[in-house]
Amino acid sequence: MTVAVVGAGLAGLRTAEAMRQQGYAGRIVLIGDEVHPPYSRPPLSKEVLRGDVEPDVAVLRSDDELAALDVERKTGMAATALRVADREVVLADGATVRYDDLVVATGSTPRTLPGVDAASVHLLRTLDDCLALRDALQADARVVVVGAGFIGLEVAASARARGCTVTVVDVLREPLARVLDPAIGAAVRRLHEEHGVTFRLGVGVDAVDQDAVRLSDGTTAPADVVVVGIGVRPTTSWLDDSGLTLDDGVVCDATLAAAPGVWAVGDVARWSPAPGAPTVRVEHWTNATEQPHIVARSIVSGEPEPFVTVPYFWSDQYDAKLQSLGTQTPPDETRVVIGALNEPKWVALVRAGDRLGGVVGMRSPGRVMKLRPLLAAGASWQDALDAVTG
Ligand code: FAD
Ligand code: NAP
Repeated sequence: MTVAVVGAGLAGLRTAEAMRQQGYAGRIVLIGDEVHPPYSRPPLSKEVLRGDVEPDVAVLRSDDELAALDVERKTGMAATALRVADREVVLADGATVRYDDLVVATGSTPRTLPGVDAASVHLLRTLDDCLALRDALQADARVVVVGAGFIGLEVAASARARGCTVTVVDVLREPLARVLDPAIGAAVRRLHEEHGVTFRLGVGVDAVDQDAVRLSDGTTAPADVVVVGIGVRPTTSWLDDSGLTLDDGVVCDATLAAAPGVWAVGDVARWSPAPGAPTVRVEHWTNATEQPHIVARSIVSGEPEPFVTVPYFWSDQYDAKLQSLGTQTPPDETRVVIGALNEPKWVALVRAGDRLGGVVGMRSPGRVMKLRPLLAAGASWQDALDAVTG
């Protein structure tokens, strides 16, 4: 029996490991187009980008650990097509890998600014992107960051730590407004402003010139370095002719199955948490570590299990840890229950109808994580308020 895993990032590696943990002793082929051993991306916008640590801290497993997994690794090799009927993955060199089960773990790919020469800006997804950007972030460099999402804000904080002048541009009115309540976005903006970052919000980018970014309101922002962090697309182009359902991700059922013997995990997977419920896709680290366990268990047992979780992410900016549990959008109400948004520490509850939908906190890890069981249990809004304030 062969299990093929396409994508040797976090979710791909975790799939191989979970298969072994489940007692699977057969062949595993791990196909990855990057030349590096599997590595973790969070340090690439934080400690590695700041230059606080060597890049190899991001590497997930040592050579010995990888060898012990007894996985056939195809490194620096892209999968270019999938033939579902033949249970075959086609590789860039023309070879094919036959599988009994296939796990798609190809992650996501940064979006680029339309009409802007990609060579004139930095993107941040890979270790190589990180090292190129780190070299460019020299003290006193004028950095314009396009996109006030996670990449943009974490890069802004790291660039300030390296002594750069930083301007963040976003079409939205507040940072992170796509995923969090704008009032929380405003608190995050103030954190950055206290550290000397300038925001140009509610404007887009018309062009990137050699030493400035031209904005849609007719003004310019001087720039020696331009970093674009305007979101990602799931990496599915290699599956275009596969017959799998692709719709902003590989569409799966509640068990993360996309077709008989085909599963998807991590950033690329779009699944339906319950029959008839809207599908979701999660672009965060914890999701890419949890889904492989369920899929591996399903493959080994032959009895597919639904994937049930409380989504979680964190973001480290300066000395602050922002954490989110559950689903934040669209919030019916966001209520700060501990501290206040203009204080260093706070926790907010997010209401979804008459239930607790999510929890967000700043510099309050213990208090945020303590509320996870309430979300897992589907607590009512009132019970959640009582639990926090009672
Ligand atoms: P990926 O990590 O993207 O891995 C997919 C792999 O598949 C890649 O190596 C890719 O090259 C390869 N691949 C793609 N197509 C093919 C193909 N056709 N053939 C072979 N291989 C292919 N999340 C958090 O929760 N907290 C954080 O602080 C945080 N920080 C982040 C910082 C950065 C800079 C970035 C980029 C992301 C961060 N994330 C964070 C998000 C988190 O890293 C991702 O959710 C996670 O990496 C997803 O894992 P994945 O394995 O699904 O995808
Ligand atoms: P993101 O969080 O989706 O943020 C992108 C931001 O850029 C959004 O606010 C977006 O607005 C905005 N934008 C889009 N087009 C724009 C334009 N033309 N001009 C200016 N702004 C524009 O994506 P990201 O920050 O690029 O991060 C990439 C991926 O890495 C994501 O999957 C993210 O989850 C992951 N990541 C996660 C973390 C973390 O969890 N701590 C850290 C780093 C990276 P619209 O929504 O309106 O398009």
